[in-house]
Amino acid sequence: MKTVKSIYEVKEYVKELRRKGKSIGFVPTMGYLHAGHLSLVKESVWRCDCTVVSIFINPAQFAPNEDFNKYPRNIQRDIEVLEKEGVDLIFIPGDGEMYPEGYKTYVGVKNLQDRLCGISRPDFFKGVCTIVLKLFNIVTPDISFFGQKDAQQAVILKKMACDLNLDVKVEALPIIREKSGLALSSRNEYLDKKQKKAALCLSRSLARARKAVEAGEKNAARILKRIKAEIESEPLARIDYVEIVDSGNLQSLKQIKDKTLIAVAVFINNVRLIDNIIV
Ligand code: AMP
Repeated sequence: MKTVKSIYEVKEYVKELRRKGKSIGFVPTMGYLHAGHLSLVKESVWRCDCTVVSIFINPAQFAPNEDFNKYPRNIQRDIEVLEKEGVDLIFIPGDGEMYPEGYKTYVGVKNLQDRLCGISRPDFFKGVCTIVLKLFNIVTPDISFFGQKDAQQAVILKKMACDLNLDVKVEALPIIREKSGLALSSRNEYLDKKQKKAALCLSRSLARARKAVEAGEKNAARILKRIKAEIESEPLARIDYVEIVDSGNLQSLKQIKDKTLIAVAVFINNVRLIDNIIV
């Protein structure tokens, strides 16, 4: 396994893979890896000849009041686990490598980026799209693996890849959870024991919503009300949003239909957590 810091080294490595006719799988991450990230890595290693993983905490997707500076980091451990998974190349660029002085170009996916998480994080998806497009151009993957945990991100990146005629297949893989139901997230690190218990209100409310849908409830307003009541009964929780939308275009729905996305964002103390299900 090779670990590199420069765009030049990645491009040289990829050129050689292409010369040999190898397929490339890519998993972009912000590091502090957990079993959710590793599920993407495993899938890539299984399906592609070579797997590239990037670790980059992208400053462009954090607002000034957000947690860029304290985002958890453990590069040494990340390298060790990726080596065990059979990853071929790790790309760990510095901020100046990705955004050199005078950097000016940003991309976004209109409309899709302004909903759900985009309301409380207005520049977030512009930052995500920009870094992912840059990484796609550097790594030139055949398939790139993302988590359904960030459902809106997956929808937006699929649309970006399609609209910009990128030769990459964007795939979203299932959410990996703790036994308790809590969706794995690097930000769970910020929670103490009590807060982690409180955070179960996200997955619990969604699991109950699924049950209600399976029992025949189709009215979105009633389901939203139940999810909100469940979350609000947790004193440490503050709702950012609860939405029931079409999983393709993210438009709100009045009635549950096939492949409906139910997504929540909730602050536990000041830690913003997201979760979702598709029913
Ligand atoms: P991050 O490091 O948070 O930017 O995440 C990198 C990738 O891992 C993204 O595609 C996430 O959607 C994915 N991911 C994060 N948490 C999970 C999880 N619990 N299950 C599956 N994928 C996840």
